[in-house]
Amino acid sequence: MPMQDTQHFDIVVIGGGSGLTAAYYAVKDGKSVALITDRPDAIGGTCVNFGCIPTKTLIQSAEVMQTIRSAADFGITLDQSSVNVDFGRIMRDMRRARTDNAAGARQWVEDTMTPFYSRVRFVGDKLLETEDGRRITGDKLFIAAGARADVPPIDGIEQAGYWTNESVLELERRPASLIVVGGGYIGAELGYFFSALGTDVTVINGSPRLLAEDHDVRELFTREFGKQVALVTGRAVQARAEGGNKSVVVEDADGRTTTVSAEHILLAAGRQPNSDALALHQTGVDIDDKGAVQVDDTLRTRHPDIYAYGDIIGQAMFKHTSSYEGELAYRNSQGGAETVTYRANPHAVFSHPQIGAVGLTEAQCRDQGLDYATARVDYADIAKGKIVGAPPGFAKLIVERGSDRILGFHMIGPQAADLVHEVVIAMNAGGTAGLVRDSIHTHPSLPELVRAVFDGTA
Ligand SMILES: Cc1cc2nc3c(=O)[nH]c(=O)nc-3n(C[C@H](O)[C@H](O)[C@H](O)COP(=O)(O)OP(=O)(O)OC[C@H]3O[C@@H](n4cnc5c(N)ncnc54)[C@H](O)[C@@H]3O)c2cc1C
Repeated sequence: MPMQDTQHFDIVVIGGGSGLTAAYYAVKDGKSVALITDRPDAIGGTCVNFGCIPTKTLIQSAEVMQTIRSAADFGITLDQSSVNVDFGRIMRDMRRARTDNAAGARQWVEDTMTPFYSRVRFVGDKLLETEDGRRITGDKLFIAAGARADVPPIDGIEQAGYWTNESVLELERRPASLIVVGGGYIGAELGYFFSALGTDVTVINGSPRLLAEDHDVRELFTREFGKQVALVTGRAVQARAEGGNKSVVVEDADGRTTTVSAEHILLAAGRQPNSDALALHQTGVDIDDKGAVQVDDTLRTRHPDIYAYGDIIGQAMFKHTSSYEGELAYRNSQGGAETVTYRANPHAVFSHPQIGAVGLTEAQCRDQGLDYATARVDYADIAKGKIVGAPPGFAKLIVERGSDRILGFHMIGPQAADLVHEVVIAMNAGGTAGLVRDSIHTHPSLPELVRAVFDGTA
């Protein structure tokens, strides 16, 4: 293939996921934009195609199932054995919605910028090359190439076969049993989906407590989730396929082994930044030993014209975070000097029970030497909590003594992912607990639980 002239753009974006955020603001400013992605079929990236949206669409079916199962608690009886799960339809509807979203995003890209549908790598200073030899450069470059499912070093895993968050979305038939390797939020969400629909799920996790949350939340989540799935603590060290089933050997901290088997294995053991294929050394961009692209607090790499954001920088790996970072990085590339802050960056775990959180955990407050007070109120302690059946769950607040500054807020229970937002706003708008405490809340409502816990630190 003959080498073509280098094409020059005002803005070059690698990545068709949250890369679209920087591209969007550049288009709005009238810039010429090159948008590069190796997945033209999946514009919108992980969130739209293999992450947030498809998994939460599936979890909606799990929630409906949960409501059906608890109907008798509210005086509605039905023959549970007559409830039929059309798994194929649940999966097909999710994939159809996903295809529509990606097609809409692709149309917008093709209407407003210059797409390059290829894997790229750096071949020189600010100089990129596609697989078919096209060369691209620009005034400002953005690296938003994301991350992929990590495959941990489990002996025999490739031969045994496994699903990831991507391939599991292609299923037509629900497995009767499933081993989930990893008890982080992806394992907790997909494990919930399958178990709610009737699959026997075993979750393998390194530590006896699941998730990376405040310790009180982890404690309750592990206890409640453990009623829905089997939990095995230890490291998956070996996998085998035998007689139509798969087995995984788990080794605990003392070297004792347990073998679990199921119809299939789902890997949910972390995310690996996609920096390895980009040859970043060619353009003076650093990565750490885990492959995360190194940026300063304005999201600029060591190269003055190259910014990076999203999962590839390995900070808070959430869609809303990468959108926020993309907007900030774009403004900084155009002369701004804003620093990134994750202080009021919330997250959620859409499992059962549900979790919503923002700010520091108690352990992080201790590590930072902060002088803090905590308060905790259960759902069962407020009127609406009793009305919805007094489910296990609580709101926990951490404030700084003296200043009344909100340091962290953690909820576990119904609608926790939504309820956390008034605290997010309070943290952004000055951050003192009085902002929530002194606001009138509707009675009876679940937000009263949020206010109640703020009262507890007055
Ligand atoms: C199962 C799952 C559930 C999730 N649920 C949630 C949730 O509920 N809420 C939430 O906030 N977050 C969730 N996330 C996280 C969220 O999806 C990510 O944080 C977000 O999508 C990251 O966006 P990104 O742009 O950094 O990466 P991506 O969206 O992965 O985009 C990377 C892009 O770069 C392209 N690319 C990579 N390498 C190259 C190359 N060499 N050349 C050309 N193109 C390249 C890829 O094709 C892709 O277009 C979930 C993730 C998973 C896996």
